[in-house]
Amino acid sequence: MKYILNQDYHIHSSRSLCSGDETWVPERILQQAEESGLTDICLTDHHWDDRVPLLDTASNFYRVQNWDHIRTVLPLPQSDKVRFHFGCEIDMDMNYNIGMSKESMDRFEFIIIPTTHLHMMGLTIDEKHDSTEGRAKVYVERLDALLDKDLPWHKIGIAHITSALIGKNHRQNFAHHLEILDSIPDETFERIFKKIAELGAGVELNIFFPKYSEEQLDSVMRPYIIAKKMGCKFYCGSDAHRLKEMAASFDRKFKPVVEYLELTEDDKFNPFK
Ligand SMILES: [Zn+2]
Ligand SMILES: [Zn+2]
Repeated sequence: MKYILNQDYHIHSSRSLCSGDETWVPERILQQAEESGLTDICLTDHHWDDRVPLLDTASNFYRVQNWDHIRTVLPLPQSDKVRFHFGCEIDMDMNYNIGMSKESMDRFEFIIIPTTHLHMMGLTIDEKHDSTEGRAKVYVERLDALLDKDLPWHKIGIAHITSALIGKNHRQNFAHHLEILDSIPDETFERIFKKIAELGAGVELNIFFPKYSEEQLDSVMRPYIIAKKMGCKFYCGSDAHRLKEMAASFDRKFKPVVEYLELTEDDKFNPFK
Protein backbone atom coordinates (compact mmCIF):
# COMPACT_ATOMS: atom_id res chain seq x y z
CA MET A 1 0.00 0.00 0.00
CA LYS A 2 1.20 3.51 -0.89
CA TYR A 3 2.62 5.54 2.01
CA ILE A 4 -0.23 7.42 3.69
CA LEU A 5 0.51 11.04 4.55
CA ASN A 6 -1.02 11.17 7.99
CA GLN A 7 1.86 12.09 10.30
CA ASP A 8 4.05 15.07 11.18
CA TYR A 9 6.57 14.25 13.88
CA HIS A 10 8.65 17.44 13.85
CA ILE A 11 6.64 20.48 14.96
CA HIS A 12 7.73 23.43 17.09
CA SER A 13 5.33 25.53 19.13
CA SER A 14 5.77 29.11 20.32
CA ARG A 15 7.78 27.61 23.21
CA SER A 16 10.71 27.25 20.80
CA LEU A 17 12.59 30.54 20.88
CA CYS A 18 12.96 30.56 17.10
CA SER A 19 9.19 30.45 16.54
CA GLY A 20 8.50 34.07 17.37
CA ASP A 21 4.75 33.56 16.98
CA GLU A 22 2.87 33.66 20.29
CA THR A 23 -0.33 32.41 18.61
CA TRP A 24 1.35 29.19 17.51
CA VAL A 25 0.16 27.15 20.49
CA PRO A 26 -0.70 23.42 20.72
CA GLU A 27 -4.44 24.06 20.21
CA ARG A 28 -3.72 25.86 16.92
CA ILE A 29 -1.29 23.13 15.83
CA LEU A 30 -3.91 20.47 16.50
CA GLN A 31 -6.48 22.39 14.47
CA GLN A 32 -4.08 22.64 11.53
CA ALA A 33 -3.35 18.91 11.74
CA GLU A 34 -7.08 18.21 11.45
CA GLU A 35 -7.33 20.51 8.44
CA SER A 36 -4.45 18.67 6.75
CA GLY A 37 -6.04 15.29 7.47
CA LEU A 38 -3.24 14.10 9.76
CA THR A 39 -3.90 11.45 12.42
CA ASP A 40 -0.64 11.53 14.41
CA ILE A 41 1.49 14.54 15.22
CA CYS A 42 4.34 15.13 17.64
CA LEU A 43 5.49 18.32 19.30
CA THR A 44 9.27 18.63 19.20
CA ASP A 45 10.30 21.90 20.78
CA HIS A 46 14.02 22.61 21.11
CA HIS A 47 15.33 21.34 24.40
CA TRP A 48 18.46 20.85 26.49
CA ASP A 49 18.05 18.84 29.68
CA ASP A 50 19.24 20.76 32.78
CA ARG A 51 20.76 17.51 34.03
CA VAL A 52 23.37 17.66 31.25
CA PRO A 53 26.09 20.34 31.42
CA LEU A 54 26.08 22.72 28.48
CA LEU A 55 29.40 23.85 26.98
CA ASP A 56 30.52 27.30 28.11
CA THR A 57 30.91 28.23 24.46
CA ALA A 58 27.20 27.58 23.79
CA SER A 59 24.84 30.51 23.38
CA ASN A 60 21.93 30.96 25.77
CA PHE A 61 19.55 29.37 23.26
CA TYR A 62 19.50 25.98 24.99
CA ARG A 63 20.00 27.28 28.55
CA VAL A 64 16.56 28.89 28.33
CA GLN A 65 14.79 25.91 26.74
CA ASN A 66 15.09 23.63 29.73
CA TRP A 67 12.51 21.20 31.13
CA ASP A 68 10.58 23.84 33.08
CA HIS A 69 10.33 25.91 29.92
CA ILE A 70 9.01 23.24 27.54
CA ARG A 71 6.80 21.34 30.00
CA THR A 72 4.36 24.27 30.23
CA VAL A 73 2.49 22.97 27.15
CA LEU A 74 1.43 19.83 29.03
CA PRO A 75 -1.05 18.23 28.92
CA LEU A 76 -1.31 18.44 25.15
CA PRO A 77 -4.82 18.86 23.73
CA GLN A 78 -6.25 15.82 21.90
CA SER A 79 -9.04 15.37 19.36
CA ASP A 80 -11.11 12.49 17.94
CA LYS A 81 -9.17 12.67 14.70
CA VAL A 82 -5.62 13.46 15.81
CA ARG A 83 -3.36 11.98 18.45
CA PHE A 84 -0.97 14.66 19.73
CA HIS A 85 2.28 13.19 21.05
CA PHE A 86 4.87 14.86 23.25
CA GLY A 87 8.47 14.85 22.09
CA CYS A 88 11.39 17.21 21.73
CA GLU A 89 14.35 18.08 19.52
CA ILE A 90 17.66 17.82 21.33
CA ASP A 91 21.20 18.37 20.17
CA MET A 92 24.67 16.87 20.43
CA ASP A 93 27.66 19.03 21.30
CA MET A 94 31.06 18.87 19.62
CA ASN A 95 32.29 16.38 22.26
CA TYR A 96 29.37 14.14 21.27
CA ASN A 97 27.43 14.65 24.50
CA ILE A 98 23.72 14.66 23.78
CA GLY A 99 21.49 17.16 25.56
CA MET A 100 19.49 14.65 27.53
CA SER A 101 20.24 12.37 30.45
CA LYS A 102 19.12 8.74 30.48
CA GLU A 103 16.59 9.35 33.27
CA SER A 104 14.92 12.22 31.39
CA MET A 105 14.17 10.14 28.30
CA ASP A 106 11.04 8.69 29.88
CA ARG A 107 9.48 12.15 29.80
CA PHE A 108 9.09 11.98 26.04
CA GLU A 109 7.24 9.73 23.61
CA PHE A 110 9.63 10.64 20.80
CA ILE A 111 13.02 12.35 20.66
CA ILE A 112 14.48 13.75 17.49
CA ILE A 113 18.22 14.26 17.29
CA PRO A 114 19.81 16.19 14.46
CA THR A 115 23.56 15.93 13.96
CA THR A 116 23.37 18.71 11.39
CA HIS A 117 22.92 21.88 13.46
CA LEU A 118 26.32 23.01 12.21
CA HIS A 119 25.28 26.67 12.32
CA MET A 120 25.87 26.58 16.09
CA MET A 121 29.57 27.41 16.06
CA GLY A 122 31.12 26.70 19.45
CA LEU A 123 28.47 24.18 20.43
CA THR A 124 28.19 21.61 17.64
CA ILE A 125 31.32 22.42 15.65
CA ASP A 126 34.69 23.96 16.41
CA GLU A 127 35.85 26.87 14.30
CA LYS A 128 38.93 24.94 13.16
CA HIS A 129 36.68 22.57 11.15
CA ASP A 130 34.91 25.36 9.31
CA SER A 131 35.78 24.39 5.71
CA THR A 132 34.04 22.19 3.13
CA GLU A 133 36.33 19.25 3.97
CA GLY A 134 36.14 19.93 7.71
CA ARG A 135 32.38 20.09 7.71
CA ALA A 136 32.10 16.88 5.66
CA LYS A 137 34.37 15.13 8.16
CA VAL A 138 32.41 16.48 11.13
CA TYR A 139 29.14 15.49 9.45
CA VAL A 140 30.16 11.83 9.19
CA GLU A 141 31.86 11.71 12.61
CA ARG A 142 28.82 13.14 14.37
CA LEU A 143 26.51 10.56 12.83
CA ASP A 144 28.90 7.74 13.73
CA ALA A 145 29.25 9.04 17.30
CA LEU A 146 25.49 9.30 17.77
CA LEU A 147 24.84 5.82 16.40
CA ASP A 148 27.39 4.35 18.83
CA LYS A 149 25.28 5.46 21.78
CA ASP A 150 22.99 3.33 23.88
CA LEU A 151 19.62 5.02 23.32
CA PRO A 152 15.96 3.96 23.20
CA TRP A 153 16.22 3.77 19.41
CA HIS A 154 12.60 2.72 18.82
CA LYS A 155 11.60 6.27 19.78
CA ILE A 156 14.49 8.19 18.22
CA GLY A 157 14.30 10.09 14.93
CA ILE A 158 17.37 11.25 13.04
CA ALA A 159 16.25 14.73 12.08
CA HIS A 160 16.93 16.62 8.83
CA ILE A 161 19.97 14.63 7.79
CA THR A 162 20.44 16.78 4.64
CA SER A 163 19.69 20.17 6.22
CA ALA A 164 21.08 23.35 4.67
CA LEU A 165 22.55 24.03 8.13
CA ILE A 166 25.39 21.65 7.23
CA GLY A 167 26.80 24.35 4.97
CA LYS A 168 28.84 27.38 5.91
CA ASN A 169 26.88 30.67 5.82
CA HIS A 170 23.83 28.76 4.68
CA ARG A 171 21.74 31.90 4.26
CA GLN A 172 24.15 33.47 1.77
CA ASN A 173 25.25 30.19 0.21
CA PHE A 174 22.30 27.80 0.15
CA ALA A 175 24.01 25.25 -2.13
CA HIS A 176 27.01 24.68 0.13
CA HIS A 177 25.37 21.79 1.99
CA LEU A 178 24.95 20.00 -1.35
CA GLU A 179 28.65 20.36 -2.09
CA ILE A 180 29.37 18.77 1.29
CA LEU A 181 26.85 15.95 0.80
CA ASP A 182 28.23 15.29 -2.72
CA SER A 183 31.71 14.81 -1.24
CA ILE A 184 30.56 11.90 0.92
CA PRO A 185 30.77 8.55 -0.92
CA ASP A 186 27.86 6.12 -1.28
CA GLU A 187 29.72 3.55 0.84
CA THR A 188 29.81 5.92 3.82
CA PHE A 189 26.09 6.56 3.61
CA GLU A 190 25.47 2.82 3.18
CA ARG A 191 27.37 2.10 6.40
CA ILE A 192 25.51 4.84 8.31
CA PHE A 193 22.04 3.91 7.12
CA LYS A 194 22.66 0.20 7.63
CA LYS A 195 23.36 1.04 11.28
CA ILE A 196 20.25 3.23 11.57
CA ALA A 197 18.13 0.43 10.08
CA GLU A 198 19.62 -2.13 12.47
CA LEU A 199 19.10 0.11 15.50
CA GLY A 200 15.49 0.72 14.45
CA ALA A 201 15.59 4.53 14.54
CA GLY A 202 13.56 6.62 12.11
CA VAL A 203 14.89 8.76 9.27
CA GLU A 204 13.18 12.12 8.92
CA LEU A 205 11.83 13.38 5.59
CA ASN A 206 11.99 17.15 5.77
CA ILE A 207 13.02 18.53 2.39
CA PHE A 208 11.40 21.65 0.98
CA PHE A 209 11.25 20.61 -2.69
CA PRO A 210 10.59 24.04 -4.33
CA LYS A 211 13.98 25.26 -3.05
CA TYR A 212 15.92 22.76 -5.16
CA SER A 213 16.57 22.60 -8.91
CA GLU A 214 16.22 19.22 -10.56
CA GLU A 215 19.97 18.72 -10.46
CA GLN A 216 20.18 19.78 -6.82
CA LEU A 217 17.42 17.31 -5.98
CA ASP A 218 19.69 14.50 -7.16
CA SER A 219 22.24 15.63 -4.55
CA VAL A 220 19.86 16.13 -1.67
CA MET A 221 17.91 12.93 -2.30
CA ARG A 222 20.86 10.56 -2.79
CA PRO A 223 21.20 9.84 0.96
CA TYR A 224 17.51 8.94 1.24
CA ILE A 225 17.65 6.62 -1.78
CA ILE A 226 20.53 4.84 -0.04
CA ALA A 227 18.63 4.85 3.28
CA LYS A 228 15.68 3.13 1.60
CA LYS A 229 17.99 0.56 0.00
CA MET A 230 19.52 -0.19 3.41
CA GLY A 231 16.08 -0.82 4.94
CA CYS A 232 15.52 2.38 6.93
CA LYS A 233 12.04 3.48 8.01
CA PHE A 234 10.89 7.05 7.40
CA TYR A 235 8.69 9.64 9.04
CA CYS A 236 7.55 13.04 7.77
CA GLY A 237 8.49 16.17 9.70
CA SER A 238 7.56 19.70 8.72
CA ASP A 239 9.91 21.41 11.20
CA ALA A 240 7.18 24.06 11.26
CA HIS A 241 7.73 26.96 13.65
CA ARG A 242 4.56 28.79 12.59
CA LEU A 243 1.23 28.18 10.89
CA LYS A 244 2.12 28.85 7.28
CA GLU A 245 5.07 26.47 7.43
CA MET A 246 2.97 23.59 8.72
CA ALA A 247 0.20 24.31 6.19
CA ALA A 248 2.67 24.39 3.27
CA SER A 249 4.55 21.23 4.24
CA PHE A 250 1.93 18.77 3.09
CA ASP A 251 2.22 19.74 -0.59
CA ARG A 252 5.79 21.02 -0.67
CA LYS A 253 7.61 18.60 1.61
CA PHE A 254 5.63 15.43 2.29
CA LYS A 255 3.87 14.68 -1.00
CA PRO A 256 6.86 15.18 -3.31
CA VAL A 257 9.31 13.23 -1.16
CA VAL A 258 7.03 10.23 -0.75
CA GLU A 259 6.49 10.20 -4.51
CA TYR A 260 10.19 10.68 -5.27
CA LEU A 261 11.16 7.73 -3.08
CA GLU A 262 8.06 5.69 -4.05
CA LEU A 263 7.45 4.88 -0.42
CA THR A 264 4.90 2.37 0.81
CA GLU A 265 3.34 1.86 4.23
CA ASP A 266 6.07 -0.75 4.88
CA ASP A 267 8.64 2.06 4.77
CA LYS A 268 6.89 4.03 7.51
CA PHE A 269 8.45 4.63 10.93
CA ASN A 270 6.01 4.56 13.82
CA PRO A 271 7.31 5.09 17.36
CA PHE A 272 3.79 5.22 18.82
CA LYS A 273 2.65 1.65 18.20
ZN1 LIG B 1 16.61 21.25 13.80
ZN1 LIG C 1 13.24 21.60 14.41
